[in-house]
Amino acid sequence: MKTIKSIQNLKNKKVLVRVDFNVPVGDDGIIDSKEDWRIRAALPMIEYLLEKGAKIILMTHLGRPEKYQVSSSKYQACSLRLVAKHLEELLDREVKFVNDCIGDEVEKAVSKIKAGEIIMLENLRFYKEEKNNDEGFARKLAGLADIYINNAFSVSHRKHASVCAITKFLPSYAGLLLEKEASVLSEAINNPKKPATVIIGGAKAKTKVPVIEYLLDKFDNILVGGVVANVILKVKGIDIGNSLLGDIDLDEVRNIDIENNKLHIPIDAIICSNENKVSLSTIGKIGNNKILDIGSKTAELYSKIISDSETIIWNGPMGLFEKEEFSLGTKVISEAVAKVGGCTIIGGGDTIAAVYKFSDLEKIDYICTGGGAMLEFLAGKRLPGLEILK
Ligand code: ADP
Ligand code: MG
Repeated sequence: MKTIKSIQNLKNKKVLVRVDFNVPVGDDGIIDSKEDWRIRAALPMIEYLLEKGAKIILMTHLGRPEKYQVSSSKYQACSLRLVAKHLEELLDREVKFVNDCIGDEVEKAVSKIKAGEIIMLENLRFYKEEKNNDEGFARKLAGLADIYINNAFSVSHRKHASVCAITKFLPSYAGLLLEKEASVLSEAINNPKKPATVIIGGAKAKTKVPVIEYLLDKFDNILVGGVVANVILKVKGIDIGNSLLGDIDLDEVRNIDIENNKLHIPIDAIICSNENKVSLSTIGKIGNNKILDIGSKTAELYSKIISDSETIIWNGPMGLFEKEEFSLGTKVISEAVAKVGGCTIIGGGDTIAAVYKFSDLEKIDYICTGGGAMLEFLAGKRLPGLEILK
């Protein structure tokens, strides 16, 4: 991968950096200092460019504006204005926000930028062309700068204009954070301290379950929870009652070697009835209820495997951890992971939120900004945004 460190002279160069500043912005417009880790993770890259005297232009997406009417308040809430302000506070330096990401106003602002100054563009996903990897749109973005940097590992599994198409029009490099995340994960795949355990849970079963097939080749234990576990149980022919499956096509995942003894599935669960009665049940006796957390026996079993491991990679909570009644499984796993002396890596927005809530992020060796991208990378899939920098 071509990295930005290979460029000697960045003085006065206009550098367009794709970052991932997709952070939760509260209704009060405040970005919680515990939820801004995606922004903080990019600060070394920005500081590096400032030191080199570059002219910095930052671009990112925020939320899913494509789901809303342009005039709606939900669409407006996807503006990066407040994110730019938050970055300004973190850096203690001015960040100029422009109302668009392409067009006259942006070009004017960029033409006035001086060495050591920072401009933040408006949400890339205000243009549908971003997700369509549109070359015309990418060319307009590229026209703003001399050099392009991808510093957003978490979107590098997506073929989007600011990640892929743009590299056709500018000399393109991997940023410090992208390089770091790719190298930490490469090390975890190629040279993991054994035993190495991957924990997969959460709701996005459609993207996560297919990865298990590949992970079984590379790691010693795969522990499943959340909706991911529901799917595995279902494929095994075990009745899961009314539990969620995350609109996955079960035929797509039938080739997972579910009998592989590296694959650990829950033996008990916290279930909830239609009348909202919560109880502990053995797997296989779920009835008409919904599985919303792993049970205490499963949590104990998983904790033992975790504490015997030298490498842990975790993406996806074990249950509906936002609700107290269904949080114990995720809490126990968070605590077990934090105690591991070997290498611990976690990724995914909700997983990071859970570890923050129940344990201590400081005790985790590496926090990966991407969940989906992390799993695809671990499974050995080629991420388009990384391939294109080779
Ligand atoms: P991440 O952001 O860490 O990649 P996901 O986005 O895939 O994780 O999933 C997180 C969500 O999954 C959480 O909101 C959690 O409440 C939900 N979840 C976990 N287990 C279950 C379950 N058994 N049933 C319903 N929702 C679940
Ligand atoms: Mg999530």
